[in-house]
Amino acid sequence: TQIMSRGLPKQKPIEGVKQVIVVASGKGGVGKSTTASKAIGLLDVDVYGPSIPKMMNLKGNPELSQNNLMRPLFNYGIACMSMGFLVEETAPVVWRGLMVMSAIEKLLRQVDWGQLDYLVVDMPPGTGDVQLSVSQNIPISGAVIVSTPQDIALMDAHKGAEMFRKVHVPVLGLVQNMSVFQCPNCKHKTHIFGADGAKKLAQTLDLDVLGEIPLYPSIRETSDTGQPVVFSQPESDEAKAYLRIAMEVV
Ligand code: ADP
Repeated sequence: TQIMSRGLPKQKPIEGVKQVIVVASGKGGVGKSTTASKAIGLLDVDVYGPSIPKMMNLKGNPELSQNNLMRPLFNYGIACMSMGFLVEETAPVVWRGLMVMSAIEKLLRQVDWGQLDYLVVDMPPGTGDVQLSVSQNIPISGAVIVSTPQDIALMDAHKGAEMFRKVHVPVLGLVQNMSVFQCPNCKHKTHIFGADGAKKLAQTLDLDVLGEIPLYPSIRETSDTGQPVVFSQPESDEAKAYLRIAMEVV
């Protein structure tokens, strides 16, 4: 589907970036960062718990370009910027709202992305200040909402979708993560978090389910060691599940 950039008058595009897609979730730990790390330029605005450095196997401080903008760090051909490059890995972010806002401003405006077709923004979980301020400051082509099939995650995903509608960001659809687990020994399939919660929520909200990702131990192992399956095992079923979703989005 072709998506158009829309913008409110006070929104200013990010220099060099054609389309911005945000990946959001209501609840944390549902696989939002794991889903986002399969793209082109990756901006991690999860200031409280940045996981992109670990998932993309990157650390260090960004260098400054001639015009004093931060240069993204690269791995697997993807330009990445994260709060995690600017603070100590284990340091908790204990900030007042204003400091969070100035960090977001820095991540949105002070990065030299070069030329990007797509910038994928990994949001913090929930519907707070960060999500609002990102949505109001830059034109966003669309939002992808990741949820597990369990009620508690879907309830938060529902709120996320409503928030984007309120700020006129088109919701491209839902991704149902951790949808099923197949035992590698007996091949029995178990719906650990429930079966088709995302489908039901999609019907309620009149949205599409962009795809489902089963629960695979390999996804956790590779993501947590900085070798996302789409790069480390591109021919695997796991990788194909993500790539199908990416094809739905672009
Ligand atoms: P969020 O960004 O929503 O907080 P993460 O993307 O950090 O969630 O995922 C939480 C954890 O679950 C990570 O350790 C990740 O590797 C793991 N994970 C995510 N999706 C899957 C999956 N489909 N199968 C197995 N593990 C997964």
